[in-house]
Amino acid sequence: MNVPINCLYLRDMQDSEMEFIDTHSHLYDEAFAGDEDAAVARAVEAGVAKIIFPDIDSQSREAMFSFADRHPGVIFPCLGLHPTSVDSGWQEELSRMEAYMSRKIWAIGEIGMDCYWSKEFIKEQQEVMRIQLEMASRAGLPVIIHSRESTELIINILKECRHLGLRGVFHAFSGSYETFRELQGLGDWYIGIGGVLTYKKASIAETVRRIPLGRILLETDSPYLTPVPFRGKRNESSYIPHIAARLAGLTETDIAEVAAITTDNARKLFGI
Ligand SMILES: [Zn+2]
Repeated sequence: MNVPINCLYLRDMQDSEMEFIDTHSHLYDEAFAGDEDAAVARAVEAGVAKIIFPDIDSQSREAMFSFADRHPGVIFPCLGLHPTSVDSGWQEELSRMEAYMSRKIWAIGEIGMDCYWSKEFIKEQQEVMRIQLEMASRAGLPVIIHSRESTELIINILKECRHLGLRGVFHAFSGSYETFRELQGLGDWYIGIGGVLTYKKASIAETVRRIPLGRILLETDSPYLTPVPFRGKRNESSYIPHIAARLAGLTETDIAEVAAITTDNARKLFGI
C-alpha cells in the first residue's frame, strides 16, 4: 500500500501519545529472572505506562511486592489466592494472604475457578472464591476473575453474591456474547482481552466485535498467551500495542481510540 509520507509522520506522532495499561501481567514470574526490570523499561518505552500485577499464592507473593516497590506509579500489585493454588491447605494459604491486607493493593485477584487443570478441589475452590469476594467487598476493591472451564460455576457464585455489589474483570475472557450479557446483569464487569485475540480462528474475535470498547481491558497475562507475531516466545507487557492493533482492526476503530478508551476503563476500575 502506498501511504503518503506526511500520513506516516502523523501516525507516528499519534503513536507516541498513546498510553496503554497492561491489566494482567506476571512479570515477577521466574521466566523473567534477571530481566524483570528491563521488561518494565521496555513496556514503558512501548507506551505501556502502568502494569497491574495479579497475585498467585504465598510462593511468589513477597517477590511480587518487592518488585512493585521498585516501580511505584508503574506497577500496581494485587492480592489473591489463585484457584490452581487451592488444595487441602487452603485455610493456611488464605491466612498467609490476609497478613498482606494492610499493604496498598489495587484489587483482590486473581481469584476464581479452574476445572481445566484439576477438578480435585472444586468445592474448596468455590469456598475460597466466595471468601475472597467478601474480602473485596469489605475492602471496596475490584476483583480479577480467573475462569477456566468454569463459567457456569462462577456465574452461580456471582448470583449468590449479588448483594456484595461486586465489580471487576473477567481476565482472559473466552466466553460467548450471551455470557458477557449475563455478566452485565450481575454487577460492574469488564472483559480482559489478550494475545489470544491475535490467533487465527480465535472465537473471541467474533465475540469482541459485539462488546462495547467501554467494557474491554487490555492484558498480556505475561509470560503466557503471547500475541502474534511473537507467539511461541515468552510474553511481556511491552506487547500490549499488538493486541490493541488487532482489536482496532476487528472493531474498525483507530488504535489511538482503543488506547484511550481501554486505558480510561482500567483507570476507573482500579483507581489508578
Ligand atoms: Zn494470571
